[in-house]
Amino acid sequence: MKSPLRLLRRDLVQNHFVTLAFGFVAIWAIGPGVGFAHAEARLHRGDADFRSHDGRVVITSDFPGGRMSQCKQVGADTFAITIAPESDPINDSAWYAFRVQSTHPKQIRLLLHYVNGSHRYEPKVSRDGENWQAATELISSTSNTLEDVELRVDVDRKPLWIAGQELLSTDEVSQWSSDLTRLPYVDRKQIGRSVQGRTMEQLTITESADPDYIFLVARQHPPEVTGAIGMLHFVDTLASQSDLAKRFRSRFAARVVPTVNPDGVHHGHWRCNANGVDLNRDWSHFTQPETQAVREQLLQCRRAGEDRLRLFVDFHSTYDDVFYIPAHNPQIFPADFTKTWFASIQQRFPGYRVNVDDNHNAHRSTSKAWVDRTLGVTAVTYEFGDETDRGMIKQVASGAAEEMMKLLLELPSKRTPKASPAMHSEIRLVSGIEETLQR
Ligand SMILES: [Zn+2]
Repeated sequence: MKSPLRLLRRDLVQNHFVTLAFGFVAIWAIGPGVGFAHAEARLHRGDADFRSHDGRVVITSDFPGGRMSQCKQVGADTFAITIAPESDPINDSAWYAFRVQSTHPKQIRLLLHYVNGSHRYEPKVSRDGENWQAATELISSTSNTLEDVELRVDVDRKPLWIAGQELLSTDEVSQWSSDLTRLPYVDRKQIGRSVQGRTMEQLTITESADPDYIFLVARQHPPEVTGAIGMLHFVDTLASQSDLAKRFRSRFAARVVPTVNPDGVHHGHWRCNANGVDLNRDWSHFTQPETQAVREQLLQCRRAGEDRLRLFVDFHSTYDDVFYIPAHNPQIFPADFTKTWFASIQQRFPGYRVNVDDNHNAHRSTSKAWVDRTLGVTAVTYEFGDETDRGMIKQVASGAAEEMMKLLLELPSKRTPKASPAMHSEIRLVSGIEETLQR
């Protein structure tokens, strides 16, 4: 069966997914003598290996993006799986990902129990970790609270991945970036390191020596795979061979940080980075290396000689497709850009509803709010639905990118908006000229 998911993965990724060695070490479920603190730490870590009493069934989450905090055998072919987040309290975006196989073909029951969360992501399955299909039919029952879900799964020798969304690891996205750099107008550089030392990459796509800028980021929140998929299609469109994209690149540069939270993605976190911080609530105090690295790049686009940032888009996922924008800000240049942009997307896709919310998280420390308030630049949070058809994501994200390019090309050239005082103090701080930031 060729599902949209499968088609999507063929599109995005040609060559990747290093099959992980199946060297299982039996780490038995938490037993007597292990303290509560250890149990907590183990749950928060989220990776586990399990082997059934008869040794035939193996379940693991020990791979990039994996999350299964604990597994216990509770019946002949029944296994209780605990899915716990990295920290508590946590946003209810219960990510799970594990791989199962059995030396003998049979049907097993998997009883998923969510700690501090409830069922959100419908199961997706893959036989190779690369091509994925929606598999809602695996669910045989769900508790009223959605804290418990039972899956009935046919297993055999061949590994079967089961996850909340198709796995899109940092390495896969990095491979995509690397493929793009074969184009003469795409550069890639390291802009920093995550808490655990993973590389943070940034692409610059331009054919201009003196460009205006747009800035795109994704994956502050690890399970938000559809947002990342939307970003990949959006960027592919900017980097394409179309006349529109060529004209765009002759005047603009797109800077892209595809994975803002590589540690969270690697560990299958529900929300946070390795320090347990929600990065999209860290955009006023900038306590984390990941937000600091992205801020530095944004400020570089606004410094003297490069003071031409026009648009910031942060890609996420939620229940439905929606654009979150700040409430009207008269300081913003270009005025009413988002209004015109969304109207043109709506006109292009009459059968698709463009949702806009101008009051979401208005007072929180999100990237969108900081870019709007501090940089005085049009800022958008672009959310794709968790279960939006992947073919539709491709169509809409590419169309949105084309409409954006058309509108930006209509803007008057090289107009520099007046920087706010807050921005000047931020710039001095980051440049090391001023040690204290006025807040
Ligand atoms: Zn998000």
